[in-house]
Amino acid sequence: MNIRSIIEQKKKNEELEPKSSGGYDNEDIWFKFTEGNHRVRLLKDGAFIVRDHWVAPSKFTPIELFPASAFEGDNALKKSIRCADFDIDTTMLKSEKECLICKLRKAVNNVLYDSKTSFSAKEKEYLTNVAKACAPQERYFFLGIDRDNPEVAPGKKGYKIIEFPKGLYKLFQDAYMDSDGENSLFNCDDDEQGFDIIISKKKDGSKWIYAVKFAMNGRSVAMTPLTDEERDYKMPDLKKIFSKIPDQSIIYDALKSEFQDFLSDEVTAGLKPTENGETAADADDNESIPF
Ligand SMILES: [Zn+2]
Repeated sequence: MNIRSIIEQKKKNEELEPKSSGGYDNEDIWFKFTEGNHRVRLLKDGAFIVRDHWVAPSKFTPIELFPASAFEGDNALKKSIRCADFDIDTTMLKSEKECLICKLRKAVNNVLYDSKTSFSAKEKEYLTNVAKACAPQERYFFLGIDRDNPEVAPGKKGYKIIEFPKGLYKLFQDAYMDSDGENSLFNCDDDEQGFDIIISKKKDGSKWIYAVKFAMNGRSVAMTPLTDEERDYKMPDLKKIFSKIPDQSIIYDALKSEFQDFLSDEVTAGLKPTENGETAADADDNESIPF
């Protein structure tokens, strides 16, 4: 048995996410977060959290898991690979793990935290960088109306998917959610009693800074009940857009050969459990994402 045969068995008839965004009759439903103020009206039940692996070559990544050629041509990988282990319905990890990049991260962490092996500082740094390159990151999406540019195609208005960068999401969560992070305190996304919010994005040195404000009418929040026209906008199939997981065998084939070899050796041998039955890498899951 080897990793290839395991993956082949699990192979689904899913294709890589299309590179074009949206894909709805030439509509562009992706909100553009440019510098400046943006007035948006969020919608109930339009929030989605996913976990992605950012794998494209970047100056911030000390180790690249894939050769640059993997991101070129007809079968190019996307810059971010959706983590197959994250359940977007429950926003929890699935019990059955199949994400290859998470497997690689676990295997590397297992080697790294194996107390019987000692590594030089350089080796340790290398392994740590590989694990970091594999780390997943959460992404936060909301469905809403872009008040400044409500069109999704020339002459056609519609809902847009707005990605909140992590800093903005946390800010929003603090300002708008109760302590459980479950319920919106102000119902800004309510069909009837909701209201617009104004998000500002500006540059501070090399960093983007975000701020969120309520849209006010004098000293009160200006409620903006959804109009009949707005309620009739076509609802994008969010589940279809966000639940598309790339085929793990395609990811395996694209990996640099050293990681393919490592996966074959480490993963098919099984992760060695520690005394309490947990692997070192499992324990690592509870820590915050390193970057
Ligand atoms: Zn993953």
